[in-house]
Amino acid sequence: MLKKVLIANRGEIALRILRACRELGIKTVAVYSSADSNLMHVRLADEAVCIGAANVAQSYLNIPAVISAAEITQADAIHPGYGFLAENAEFAEQVEKSGFTFIGPSPETIRMMGNKVSAIQSMQKAGIPCIPGSNGAINHNTDKQNLEIAKKIGYPVIIKAAGGGGGRGMRVVRQERDLLEFIAMTCTEAQSAFGDDRVYMEKFLENPRHIEIQVLGDGKGKAIHLGERDCSTQRRHQKVIEEAPAPGITDKQRKKIGQLCVKACERIKYSGAGTFEFLYENGEFFFIEMNTRIQVEHGVTEMITGIDLVREQLMVAGGAPLRYKQDQVKYTGHALECRINAEDPKTLMPSPGKIDLFHPPGGPGIRLDTHIYSSYSVPPYYDSMIGKIMAHGETRDCAIARMNQALEETIIDGINTNIVLHKEILADEKFKKGGINIHFLEKKLAGE
Ligand code: ADP
Repeated sequence: MLKKVLIANRGEIALRILRACRELGIKTVAVYSSADSNLMHVRLADEAVCIGAANVAQSYLNIPAVISAAEITQADAIHPGYGFLAENAEFAEQVEKSGFTFIGPSPETIRMMGNKVSAIQSMQKAGIPCIPGSNGAINHNTDKQNLEIAKKIGYPVIIKAAGGGGGRGMRVVRQERDLLEFIAMTCTEAQSAFGDDRVYMEKFLENPRHIEIQVLGDGKGKAIHLGERDCSTQRRHQKVIEEAPAPGITDKQRKKIGQLCVKACERIKYSGAGTFEFLYENGEFFFIEMNTRIQVEHGVTEMITGIDLVREQLMVAGGAPLRYKQDQVKYTGHALECRINAEDPKTLMPSPGKIDLFHPPGGPGIRLDTHIYSSYSVPPYYDSMIGKIMAHGETRDCAIARMNQALEETIIDGINTNIVLHKEILADEKFKKGGINIHFLEKKLAGE
């Protein structure tokens, strides 16, 4: 069992990890930037170390500083959360070389999944359905070859950066005459944004839903899945609302795609929590990428399964076997999550500043994961997400009704938030019906 875990993150996920550690009797070390000394988990942790300036390169992305903090506090493991260093294979490697346990899969797995081209190739081998595409990077092809590949796939196609993430590094090509120019543009962007100019091509699906499968592996060849989440409510390729289960997905479909993901995990001896992301169209799943970490939206799965994913991550990293067999994973009711961002709901401009008054929602089926409190100042340097409201109910309608009430009860004075946007989405007839696709929100906002 782990004794002391360093939490290499900030905000709500740092607090979430701290809570799971406390439950298991594990000591915690918080690391924070000079702009973050007022963070809730920094107050609560057993030890706290300032690792650098507000700028992420000097603090949360500063590998030597994080590892030094683990050394001086004699932590035995590092939990990376999500974002920052969570999917940095180099970091995972350095953590292990320095004698600490990295709470997540092996550096090789992170590296393979971090490159979408190698991830897709590995998934194809495991029998996971992928989107028809170029089967590899297209950078060294001749123009003629690329024109032929696109023709064979059929327009529209999408050019994607192999090292891309966060919804960036993608470009849709609708007609042949744009292809070569768009490939060149995406390569240039990929190089400057991700330090890797490799791009690949796949069929652009017009109206897919985003459905993902949660998995847990013990690192020794055993894995289970915990069903799916629907994350189709997106804006600028960023998730806004997530839910579980996905409306309309049958037990049979869940079982089939879940088993394929489990098999793929067992093949690579996957360790810890992970997510297989799919686009779903006309009853078919198509793999797009795997995230080798805990996801923002893990809570909705926890609510319908009763399984604490962060706790499982800590247990597996400590060498314990998985505590659940596949047939012990049961689903109860429906859960939704609204990501609360400190931003102007119209312009999406971040809205940092002091929160004068904060009143959290409560009541049956409501869970709030947040680090904010009255008088907390949201710094301007980091992601604008300040918390997540989750609602669980016997049915989807019940979960939506509870979420509506929770949004109504929430008071965050002093900064702008997207709570009004969430209320509008929940009131939308198409959303209420369920099964909307990834364009629903953008179209709604455009008044279509
Ligand atoms: P990232 O790693 O940047 O999040 P993903 O590959 O997960 O990139 O894709 C993010 C989003 O982009 C998807 O949820 C979907 O909305 C859109 N997208 C990606 N690939 C395709 C595709 N082939 N067809 C249609 N939409 C796509």
